[in-house]
Amino acid sequence: MNISMIGTGYVGLVSGVCFAEFGFQVSCVDLNAGLIARLSAGEATIFEPGLDELMTRNIRDGRLSFTTDLAASVAGADVIFIAVGTPSRRGDGEADLQYIEAAADAVAAAMKPGAVIVIKSTVVVGTNARIRDRIRAARPGVEFSMVSNPEFLREGSAIEDFMRPDRVVVGVEDTRGREAMRRVYRPLYLRETPMVMTTLENAEIIKYAANAFLAMKVTFINQVADLCEKAGGNVQEVAHAIGMDKRIGAKFLHAGPGFGGSCFPKDTRAFAATGRRFDAPQTLIEEVVAVNETRKQAMAARIIEAARQSDAASVAVLGVAFKPNTDDIREAPAIDIIAAIQKAGLTVRAHDPEAMVTARAALPGVVWCNSAYEAAEGAGVTALLTEWNAYRALDLKKIAGLMTGNVLIDLRNVYKAEDIEGTGLDYRSVGNSSAF
Ligand code: NAD
Repeated sequence: MNISMIGTGYVGLVSGVCFAEFGFQVSCVDLNAGLIARLSAGEATIFEPGLDELMTRNIRDGRLSFTTDLAASVAGADVIFIAVGTPSRRGDGEADLQYIEAAADAVAAAMKPGAVIVIKSTVVVGTNARIRDRIRAARPGVEFSMVSNPEFLREGSAIEDFMRPDRVVVGVEDTRGREAMRRVYRPLYLRETPMVMTTLENAEIIKYAANAFLAMKVTFINQVADLCEKAGGNVQEVAHAIGMDKRIGAKFLHAGPGFGGSCFPKDTRAFAATGRRFDAPQTLIEEVVAVNETRKQAMAARIIEAARQSDAASVAVLGVAFKPNTDDIREAPAIDIIAAIQKAGLTVRAHDPEAMVTARAALPGVVWCNSAYEAAEGAGVTALLTEWNAYRALDLKKIAGLMTGNVLIDLRNVYKAEDIEGTGLDYRSVGNSSAF
C-alpha cells in the first residue's frame, strides 16, 4: 500500500515515519522546500526522541521518501493523509482552514480513482463533509473515500504515542475507507489498540472535546493552586489525593504557569468559537481560555514583583519550550511571560536545552545563554518555566552564588523544600502556602 503524507510538521513527519516503520511505502510532501531538502538528506527537522533512528532506518530501507511534488506523490497513493496546520484565525478564534482547503484542492487534482483521503489535522465539526463535497465538485464522477482520523500524539513522546496510542479514532462513511484504515493501523490492531470507528462528525468532535477537557483539567488545578496559596494548602498533596480517584485520574493535575503549545490554546479557542457558531455555547471552555490568559500574566507579575524587591535589572528564565522534550515554542507560556518581564524594563537571560534556535526569532531582546548557570549570572530572580530533566538536578548553591538576588520561582514545582535547604535561595513554588 502506498501512502502520501501531506505536511511534514510534528504530526505529518512522525506519522509518515511511523507508517514507513509499519512497512508501508510512504512519500512525505511539504511546500517548504528547505524542510524537504533537510529531510531528504536524513536530517530530522524537529526534536523528537527516537525520530532520528526511525527516519534513518526507513530511508535506508527505501520505504520513506520526501518531496515537494504533491501531484506525483498523490497520484501514486492509495491512502492520502492531510496533516497540514490548522492555526487560529485572527479575530474570532475559529480554526483557519485555508491550508486544509489548499491541500484538498491539490489532492483533488492529482488523486487516482478509488483513493482514500484522510484528514489527520485537527478540524472543526463539519469540515470533513465540506472537504468531501469540495473534492467531489472538483472531480465529478471520480470515486474516492473521505476519512477523519484525528491525531492524539503529544510532542516530546510523539513516536511512543503514535506506536502505542490509547485508541485510534476513525470517522468513516464507507467500507473502502474503513478497510483502508484497518490496514494502515493493522500493526496497532494486532497489539489490541482499540479502534473507534465512528462518523466523520463524531471523530471531529472527539478530538476537540478531548483537548478541551484536558485544558480544563489543567486550568482547574491552577485555580485550586491559587486557593492553596492563600488558604494554607499544598496543591501537590491535593492533586495527588484527588487524582487517586479513578474517576478523576492523576494526569493533567500539575499546577503551573498555564497551558500552552501548538494545540490546547488554538483548539480551546476553536471549540469555543464552534459552540458559538452552532448556538451551543461552550461556556466552560470560554472561561478556560480567559483564565489561562490571566494566569500567564499573573505568573509574570510574580516574577516582576520579586525582581523589583531584589533591586535587580535582570531575570533568568530556565526553559522556553511549552513543555520538556520538544523544541516547539508555539504559544508557550514563556513567550507571554518573557514579554511582560521585558515590558517591565527588566532584562531576560534565558536558556533552553532545545528550543533556543526557534525562540531567538520569536523573542527579540533576550540574552540567550549556554546553560542555566550562565543565565543565572547577575540575575535577581531565577524563574523555572519548563521542567526539562536538565533543570531537575541543578547545583542550586552554585545558582545562588551566581545571582545578585536570591529568589528562585519554580513555576513547575520541580524542587522540594529539602533540595533548597542550605542553598541560600528564597524558594517560591506554585500552590504551596509554605513556600511563598
Ligand atoms: P506544523 O505547522 O508543524 O506542520 C504543518 C506542515 O504542513 C508545515 O511544514 C507546512 O509547510 C505544511 N503545509 C501546509 N500546507 C501545505 C500544502 N498545501 N502542501 C504541503 N504541505 C503543506 O503542524 P503540526 O503541529 O504538525 O500540526 C498539524 C495538524 O495536526 C494541526 O491540525 C494540529 O492541530 C494537529 N495536531 C498537532 C499535534 C502536535 O502535537 N503538534 C498533535 C495532534 C494534532
